[in-house]
Amino acid sequence: MAGGLIALALRRARPELVVALVEAEDVLGGNHRWSWFGSDLDKAATKLLAPFRKTEWSGYDVRFPARKRTLGARYFSLASSDFDTALRRELAQDCIQPGSPISALDACGIDLDDGTRFTARAVIDCRGFVPGTSLRGGWQVFMGRHLRTARPHGVERPVIMDAAVPQHGAYRFVYTLPLGANELFVEDTYYADEPVLDRGVLSSRIDAYCTDAGWEGEILGGETGILPVITGGDFAAFQAASRTPGVAVAGARSGMVHPLTSYTLPHAAQTAQLVAENADLAGVQLASVLEAQARRVWRQTGFYRMLGQMLFGAAQPDNRYRIFERFYGLPEPLIERFYAARSTLGDKARILSGRPPVPVSRAVGALLSSREPLTAQHPKKDISS
Ligand SMILES: Cc1cc2nc3c(=O)[nH]c(=O)nc-3n(C[C@H](O)[C@H](O)[C@H](O)COP(=O)(O)OP(=O)(O)OC[C@H]3O[C@@H](n4cnc5c(N)ncnc54)[C@H](O)[C@@H]3O)c2cc1C
Repeated sequence: MAGGLIALALRRARPELVVALVEAEDVLGGNHRWSWFGSDLDKAATKLLAPFRKTEWSGYDVRFPARKRTLGARYFSLASSDFDTALRRELAQDCIQPGSPISALDACGIDLDDGTRFTARAVIDCRGFVPGTSLRGGWQVFMGRHLRTARPHGVERPVIMDAAVPQHGAYRFVYTLPLGANELFVEDTYYADEPVLDRGVLSSRIDAYCTDAGWEGEILGGETGILPVITGGDFAAFQAASRTPGVAVAGARSGMVHPLTSYTLPHAAQTAQLVAENADLAGVQLASVLEAQARRVWRQTGFYRMLGQMLFGAAQPDNRYRIFERFYGLPEPLIERFYAARSTLGDKARILSGRPPVPVSRAVGALLSSREPLTAQHPKKDISS
């Protein structure tokens, strides 16, 4: 995704440059659905995403045991198949190199598995997040199902969080997007201590949720994810571990991510603009510009890592939902700035003030404690049961 947006931004700003978008798979963007709030993107990023066919809504709902609310923000969702289609349409014919796994890269080019070498003035590594020992946190584990319902489902707006469901030892919520009158995307999400995705269990919970809601029909597809929720760590060490000298790093691999939601699309769109503005730099300098940007994002998002620490550490897993239940009672502009990772000092004070949703002693304990490393030694488990 990050690589595709960079190629698109360069095509717009500097069509004379020769750019290669090298991807191991046959399609661009994998099997994903990316969603975001209108307020997550600035004007330039909104323009960059304009050519992609996407679904959009005005307003969304949240549900908790003691709170239901409809909010007014605009919400967008982009399927990876539409991402692939638009890039093939917008980019130069010979730019996209699908089915090309890279075996090695350096400041002057890349080597493919089949021995082909591409040389380049600048190389940007967008090969996804690398688990390691330097960052700490928990996990967001989810399974989504794309459904065509036999009858119109009647859901008017996205339900971004329905946490009025059994919690099963995590912060669990169900996320529903009405993609059409007879089309739904239903996702079961867990803020969990362990990176374990049990397909059989999650699938049967989605079945139960759909049955309760009266949604029956044909399954058109789905997605699964195990994403890191970063609560702290040594960012310099993380950068050192994912760095190849002279090679720029972008996307999830760069650590430019919203620590609590694990969303990277807004940062990726911003990075794409930054690359386009600095397209004349040598690769080594471009690498420094993106590294500095990632450090800036890390500094600016400390508040969200602290909230993540409280979410995982202060609340018993089945009570984690109370933190979001209280949060969703706050004014809507504050909620929008939170998702855009642009909370003001006043917002932060407001989020932390008032009667805490978790006991103060546990909250303080959580802030002083350290969570597990987001590491490969803590392997992701994708279980088919
Ligand atoms: C199911 C799912 C849903 C998500 N939903 C959202 C969302 O709604 N909003 C949001 O902002 N974020 C979302 N995320 C999180 C994050 O934004 C995405 O993972 C996003 O795609 C990350 O972008 P990226 O470009 O860094 O990595 P990717 O999009 O994963 O791209 C990395 C690419 O590198 C390729 N690659 C890896 N190794 C090699 C190699 N050796 N040679 C060649 N190619 C290689 C991979 O095939 C892949 O296509 C979601 C993640 C998942 C898994």
